[in-house]
Amino acid sequence: MNVAASGGALRCRGWQQEAALRMLENNLHPDVAEKPSELIVYGGIGKAARDRASYDAIVRELTRLGDEQTLLVQSGKPVAVFDTHPHAPRVLLANSNLVPDWANWETFRELDAAGLTMYGQMTAGSWIYIGSQGILQGTYETFAAIARKRFGGSLAGRLVVTAGLGGMGGAQPLAVTLNDGCALCVEVDLQRIERRIRTGYLDERAADLDDALARLETAQAERRPLSIGLLGNVADVLPELVRRGVAIDVVTDQTSAHDPLTGYIPAGLTVEQADTLRTRDQDDYLRRVGESAVTHVGAIRALQQAGAEAFDYGNALRGLAAAHGDADAFSYPGFVPAYIRPLFCEGKGPFRWVALSGDPEDIRRTDAAILDLFGDQEHVARWIRLAGEKVRFQGLPARICWLGYGERDRAGLRFNEMVASGELRAPIVIGRDHLDGGSVASPERETEAMRDGSDAIADWPLLNALINTACGATWVSIHHGGGVGMGKSIHAGQVVVADGTAGAAERIRRTLTADPGMGIVRHVDAGYPEAIDAARRLGVHVPMLDG
Ligand code: NAD
Repeated sequence: MNVAASGGALRCRGWQQEAALRMLENNLHPDVAEKPSELIVYGGIGKAARDRASYDAIVRELTRLGDEQTLLVQSGKPVAVFDTHPHAPRVLLANSNLVPDWANWETFRELDAAGLTMYGQMTAGSWIYIGSQGILQGTYETFAAIARKRFGGSLAGRLVVTAGLGGMGGAQPLAVTLNDGCALCVEVDLQRIERRIRTGYLDERAADLDDALARLETAQAERRPLSIGLLGNVADVLPELVRRGVAIDVVTDQTSAHDPLTGYIPAGLTVEQADTLRTRDQDDYLRRVGESAVTHVGAIRALQQAGAEAFDYGNALRGLAAAHGDADAFSYPGFVPAYIRPLFCEGKGPFRWVALSGDPEDIRRTDAAILDLFGDQEHVARWIRLAGEKVRFQGLPARICWLGYGERDRAGLRFNEMVASGELRAPIVIGRDHLDGGSVASPERETEAMRDGSDAIADWPLLNALINTACGATWVSIHHGGGVGMGKSIHAGQVVVADGTAGAAERIRRTLTADPGMGIVRHVDAGYPEAIDAARRLGVHVPMLDG
């Protein structure tokens, strides 16, 4: 697999196309993707292209694509190029979408095996994954919110227990230590533990549970941040922690439970044994997964009853346990209603950008620009400082920084000016996770427990994709099933390229206003007072708000 190109030389007919090509390559960069040889980027089987032939064809089409053309990608396969116009997106993608009555894993797997679709997750199939950093700030903010809510503003001396050190879950240990806490991270795959240590997201690996607990106890007593990876199965380890009565302050999970067949390893099996059983006897495998999920969720509840802050970290684990007979699975909340929704109400969300030059210096310059624009906000200043110190880049240098309505367009326009003036060595790609205020319908995650009961209304992500297309984002995507699995979510993404031109400035201004605006509008419609205040304060026009 090739490493993403960098520098100022173009292989395509313009920077908009070159940006899409570099980001596709970057998603599959060996330091970025979890399994690049299988085109798998992160999140279970989240892929960047359907198969090798489709990948090659996308690369070929992007290198030929004109400035007045648009490439269409259907579940990772390029299917058409049409003449459009310069301000139209250069690429439109629809990944993993199924008609609602057929939207389940069984049908998806049949169609996937027949070569007709692929799982796009959120940023895998839409070419804006930036490695574990992409989720790091969201995870950091989540733990910071818990620290404020329960522990006087810091996790110092506190123990967080979680599982899953994959592409996204791997951000958890660093997010905890950035909040000064201690983390025990259970992971069944040794290679994932080693990878997180290598990339600076995890501090150490323990020999066994006793060793891990002893080291964590010392660190907690000294109020010293420490993260430890423990090789094991969480459905074995968590009940053991309950039996031992270990005092745990926060408990959550980021195994890929959204995909029971390939993302969650049942108790008692190693990764290799799981691979064998999965191919030999799928039904037995799924039965064991169900049993383990029920045990796992039961242990989380027991820890909650013993005083831990328990929350679901967006991987559909509660739903899996519920589907296997656990009537109380949803007795602890998801992270969005518990900690994140107030940010969505103000259009705040996971704004990210990537330096196409490949030069880390370009990110340092954009960091300085963010501090210049928003450094008076203490949490932005703290985040940019911490990220600059602690985050090691994977693939093309990138940065995440949650910004809101009225901020993202200013940041984007500043980056565009910096490209135009030559202060940056090459254009900047600006995008976001699909996990944002107005871009996703996911009743067990982003839209769980909406104030007006509109959790399952999926018009919002579709409107989001349509308005981003109308605004002239460089590529726009509509996906199904990301985060929580088939039948459970519909979501949209956009990416816009700051290439220093006046045309890019227009596209940036329009896209980065309407896109976060959708977060405010969606929450105004659901009746959130914070969103109504934000709409009035920031001048977002909502036709029926004032009657
Ligand atoms: P991944 O597939 O890269 O990693 C999952 C990890 O879990 C793997 O390393 C796997 O070995 C491990 N694992 C599986 N079963 C286990 C078990 N029983 N015990 C211990 N370890 C086990 O996935 P990812 O990208 O890290 O995402 C993890 C989950 O989080 C997914 O369900 C994803 O949809 C969800 N997610 C949440 C957010 C969020 O904001 N909270 C964002 C993105 C993804």
